[in-house]
Amino acid sequence: MKRRDFLKIIGAGGVGTGLGVLFGKLTKAPGAKLIPRLIPPEDVIPGIGTWYSSSCTQCGAGCGTMVKVMEGHARKIEGNPLNPVNKGKLCVRGQAALQALYNPDRIKAPLKRRGERGKGDFEEISWDEAISIVAKNLAGTPADKAYLVSSRLRGHYNTLVANFMAGYGSQNHINYELFQPRNLAYANQVSMGLGAIPHYDIENTKYLLSFGADFSTTWLSPVGYSRAYGEMRQGKGKRGKLVQVEPRLSLSGANADEWVSVRPGAEGILALSIAFAIIEKGQYRGGDAGSWKAALGAFKPSEAVKLTGVSEEKIYEIAKEFAATRPSLALGGGNVARYEDGHAGLVAVNILNHVAGNIGIKGGVVPNPETNLRGEKRNDFKNSIAKFAHDASAGKVKAVLFCNTNPVFTAPAQMKLTDALKNTAFIASVSSFIDETTAMADIVLPVHHTLEDWGDDFTDPAPGAGQAAIIQPVVSPVYNTKGLGDIFISLGKAMGGKTASKLPGGSYADYLKDSWKELYSRNRAMSVGTSGFDEFWNKVLANGGWWPAEQDRPRTAHVSASAV
Ligand code: SF4
Repeated sequence: MKRRDFLKIIGAGGVGTGLGVLFGKLTKAPGAKLIPRLIPPEDVIPGIGTWYSSSCTQCGAGCGTMVKVMEGHARKIEGNPLNPVNKGKLCVRGQAALQALYNPDRIKAPLKRRGERGKGDFEEISWDEAISIVAKNLAGTPADKAYLVSSRLRGHYNTLVANFMAGYGSQNHINYELFQPRNLAYANQVSMGLGAIPHYDIENTKYLLSFGADFSTTWLSPVGYSRAYGEMRQGKGKRGKLVQVEPRLSLSGANADEWVSVRPGAEGILALSIAFAIIEKGQYRGGDAGSWKAALGAFKPSEAVKLTGVSEEKIYEIAKEFAATRPSLALGGGNVARYEDGHAGLVAVNILNHVAGNIGIKGGVVPNPETNLRGEKRNDFKNSIAKFAHDASAGKVKAVLFCNTNPVFTAPAQMKLTDALKNTAFIASVSSFIDETTAMADIVLPVHHTLEDWGDDFTDPAPGAGQAAIIQPVVSPVYNTKGLGDIFISLGKAMGGKTASKLPGGSYADYLKDSWKELYSRNRAMSVGTSGFDEFWNKVLANGGWWPAEQDRPRTAHVSASAV
């Protein structure tokens, strides 16, 4: 007998005997479980980790990640130095994604409501049964009475779900999550005609004037902006200045050279008043100064004092330095975006950037290219959670599928969503945890964690140039869950008819790869340095995505005086 065979028998026998004594019986033949430990798969070297590239989905920033996997378990997540969004850095939330992957409270299998709605009393069922119940209820509901409420769907999840909804014939897709830059996207669209959030070039600016944007904690892309802020303050060249304007001191404000207290809701008025002062003092470089002065006439610093609580001297002082320092950059976020008319304050910040000549320059506001994914539906400003709550209260919502979002907890209490959902005949939820919304569901479809699933992300905001990041499974599913794309494909197939015909016949992984093949075929920059799609795809999986070697050509945008 060989030494290796001897060790196998001793190992299996020893552990098997121990388990047998402990539980009274062996649930599996010992060899079935133990031999893989003794003869691991070829690519597993015990004690040696393998790093896989992927992307973080813990917030909307889409930082690139590298995940260390040892013996089939994800052990550590770090930032991907190749990804231009975060350049190797990662925040605590990104690092903590492992806690969600192995969280014992994750939903472990599809669930069916057993007790009273909202009490969270469920029983486990099979995937076939769960998909068939959801499909039957959706197919049996008129499409205009069925709703999908989802968090932001990244990349090709978005195109797949848009196809699903188009096949079903429903326009009722509500994109909702708590920290959604919806007002910013709207403000940029109406004032600058931009479909994507621009790149705010903090790294290269010399005077940063932030209206409530807490960029070092939660605003848009906190890791990327914190890194850029570090470069602005301590990198090469002259140290940049930060002036933070807000009613309540934020962490970014605590790091500022100057903190300016402003009355809540008056941030936009202050921005327009600074813009007026720039024009009044002849620091505006455009040829249409007359129309701007007329448009901003109501925001003279002498008038703005009463509304903003900021002195006239301070307004002129900020205006002079902001316009004279090149390049300068104004940000609008936080409270400014959260008022009911939040987009108006953000339009005011865009106007200030325009008047100071900051749009389309290095160190200013750099418009990002559109992703141009076929069939993508990125910004839909007609559908909102308020409209959904209104329709649900009016009894117009007969079936709803929630997807990775928890509006029952996060939407304003005045919307009374819990009461409104009592009028809804069927509720399903795609989720990883029994949160307040999922507890209201009749059927729960547990979804893979990002580290178990395929996906991609075309970040918004992008880092000033086109980029495409990949999400790939780095470990086998821990529980009996399904990938998000595969859930929609299974539902579509079970519903049949037009919905099925709009969806791919294979798996989501195949759909994703085919979609990237299509992107590759119409994007010449992607083929640079590769001999064909297969080589390109292997590089994407190894690097965590694709980024052009050369920066895209500079882009700019225009704000007209009619935006006031
Ligand atoms: S900032 Fe980056 S690392 Fe942090 S949660 Fe968001 S995507 Fe993840």
